Amino acid sequence: MRWFRTGRRDLPWRTPFPRDPYAVLVSEVMLQQTQVDRVIEAYLSFMERFPSLEALAAASVEDVLHAFSGLGYYRRARLLHESARAIVALGSWPKDAGELARLPGFGPYTSAAVAAFSFGGSDPPVDGNVARVTARLRALPLPMGSVALLRAGREFAASLYAESPTPEVWEALMELGATVCAPASPRCRACPVRASCAAFAAGDPAAFPLPRPQRSREAHRWVALWVERDDGRVLLRRVDDGPLLVGLWLPPLAALSDGIDPSVAAEILAREAGVDVPLSATDVVRHSITHRDIRVVPFAATVGANRVAEAQPGWSWQDPGAPTLPTSSLLAKLARACGGRQAQPTKNREA
Ligand code: SF4
Repeated sequence: MRWFRTGRRDLPWRTPFPRDPYAVLVSEVMLQQTQVDRVIEAYLSFMERFPSLEALAAASVEDVLHAFSGLGYYRRARLLHESARAIVALGSWPKDAGELARLPGFGPYTSAAVAAFSFGGSDPPVDGNVARVTARLRALPLPMGSVALLRAGREFAASLYAESPTPEVWEALMELGATVCAPASPRCRACPVRASCAAFAAGDPAAFPLPRPQRSREAHRWVALWVERDDGRVLLRRVDDGPLLVGLWLPPLAALSDGIDPSVAAEILAREAGVDVPLSATDVVRHSITHRDIRVVPFAATVGANRVAEAQPGWSWQDPGAPTLPTSSLLAKLARACGGRQAQPTKNREA
């Protein structure tokens, strides 16, 4: 605690306890799978755009997805929006971790974090940092992500709280994992609890915890239709169904089943888009979404300004370098492959 109080990072959501539960929720959702440095700016602009739970609940899902552009993992944004609407419909925040866990997008960690940081809850929030520090302090040869390690982390965090009953003790533990007890190379020389660390004493701290079992990767093939207008704008279609990228705006896409010729699938997409000019195949684009590796075969066409009507909702002509609708980093990759305007690259993996 002394170490934390003197050297903790100054983060915009770290206000005195009890914290605004909305601010806790937004920051925790953004911090899932994303580095703190990238979250700070996104958090500040999100809070400016949606300053309260009510403002978020009243927003369109499209606006919320757009505000998450660049962070990726748009499913998080969708669930955050749903949870805001659910809490507004309830009339007040549930204060107990068990009740919070019934809301959309509230997993065990988020529920415990909101309850602990905002409502005095005593269930420890156990994230990857807490689990890793626990495994090392006690030299537990347990796999990351395992139920056994989660349980050990919870017991350890609860024992600290019994000695120092403030959520600050959990935040200190998380800070230790995030800044000192790093996954691949722990900085043990700078560690305030080195003297009581069993993994350090054993001589190989990075050997704990054991690696998370790898999920096998899936290979997918898609075809994309890149239709560019004289003025450089590109035809995008909102993804309305399927397991991936729903709600985002991208060039028309179709999954390729085995045996289907990509050019045939591209012609079908062209008919759906009202495009009747020759298509040319361009370089394959590789894109990954969680455990899926996708090879996208783009087919490009250029049309005159008025050759394709933006007839129905769900279609839009956009500047690929500055889209005004929520999109994915796949748009930037397709722009590069198809020689269109340079779209802004984003670094997220999911979208
Ligand atoms: Fe982690 Fe090293 Fe500190 Fe142990 S001594 S908690 S391994 S940083």
